[in-house]
Order: sequence, then C-alpha cells, then structure tokens
Amino acid sequence: MDSGRESVISRTMRICVFCSSSNAIEASYFREARLLGREIARRGHTLIYGGGDIGTMGALARAVKDGGGKVVGVIPAALNALPGVGYQGADEIIVTDTLRERKTIMEENADAFIALPGGLGTLEELLEIITLKQLRYHAKPIVVLNTEGYYDPLFSLLQHAVVGNFIKPETVGLVHVAVSVSDALDYIESYLPEPATLRGCFQTGVALE
Ligand code: AMP
Repeated sequence: MDSGRESVISRTMRICVFCSSSNAIEASYFREARLLGREIARRGHTLIYGGGDIGTMGALARAVKDGGGKVVGVIPAALNALPGVGYQGADEIIVTDTLRERKTIMEENADAFIALPGGLGTLEELLEIITLKQLRYHAKPIVVLNTEGYYDPLFSLLQHAVVGNFIKPETVGLVHVAVSVSDALDYIESYLPEPATLRGCFQTGVALE
C-alpha cells in the first residue's frame, strides 16, 4: 500500500458537471443526463453545476433532486434574471457577478468534474479544467462522458495537436473518457491523485520539474 496516496473510495463527493443549456438536442442526451443525476444521488454525492433549468442542465439537476440528492447551482446574476433560466429547486444557489467568478467557485468547490456533451460553454469549461490540471493548479479527476461519441472529434483534434507537438501525449491522459455513467462515477470514486506538487494557491515556493 502506498501511504503517500489517500484513497477516496466510498467518500461522498461534490461532483461538478458541465453540460448543455440547449433544449433542442436529441433525447438520448437528456436520458444520459437524467441517468447521471439519479446515480449521483443514489451514490450519495452532491451535484455542483451552472444552476440552469434548461437543456441537460435542468434535466440533470431535477434527476438529482428526484433521487433525494443535493444540488448546488452557481449562476451569474445576469443569467439568473432571465425568465425560466435558473433552477429554483436547488438546495443552494450561489449567484455570482460574472461567468468567470462562477467557474472559479465551481472549480474550487468540486472534488471531481464530468463533462456531458455541450456547446461553447461546456467546451470552454472542460478545456479550462484540463488546462488547470496540466499546469498542476489541481489534481482532481476529470471525466468526459462520451454519449453517442459526441466528443470523438475533440479527441481527434487533441491527437492532431499531440502529433504536432502542441500538446504533450500525457496531457490527453489527464482526462478519462467514460462510456457510461457507472464508468464515469466508478473512475471518480476510485481516483488516486498523483502526489504531484501543486502550483498557485494550493502550494507556493516549491520548484516544479
Ligand atoms: P453550453 O454548453 O454552451 O450550452 O453552455 C452550458 C455551460 O455553460 C454550462 O455548464 C453552464 O455552466 C454554462 N451556461 C451556459 N448557458 C447557461 C445558462 N443559460 N444558464 C446557466 N448556465 C449556462
């Protein structure tokens, strides 16, 4: 047993999910979001997400609540003020001034991240959380739940960037590509962070590399 690595197995976690605000996407994406929400609740985890009641965001949050789980929504005031956009059934709603502040709160308060299929907002959130991990600002698990192979083109692009030496091969390995909800949650629950030195606010004054 490696005493330097803390096991997170069976620990109740705060899971941040990035997902779509679109109501116009295929039903299969909503099914997967509801499945994920139910399973987050069944396993006793808390959902942290963008606070929306639209698209798979709303479906996910309602499924967590229907399953008896806890939901924390983090939403900028400007979006929350739009009719029907904010999910009012959350256990906690954190209203921020800006989109960036919202992302920071989600990032700092989550133990793990899952990206479901999504648009620009989701892609931006996912790529930022990978970038932060690559730079060792955090060492938390990141999962892409690849419903219907939605993210295959993104991973082709990342591979293209690896071939061109824009991205190190090991960086792509910082993300687990899950084929199912149980695969995603099993990975997060059994994740053992590398005892790597962290940068920024987590630890300062230590030389890296
Ligand atoms: P998108 O993938 O472009 O649909 O954006 C969804 C992601 O961006 C979510 O993970 C949210 O954090 C954020 N987001 C975008 N639009 C909204 C909205 N109307 N209400 C709340 N969050 C949103």
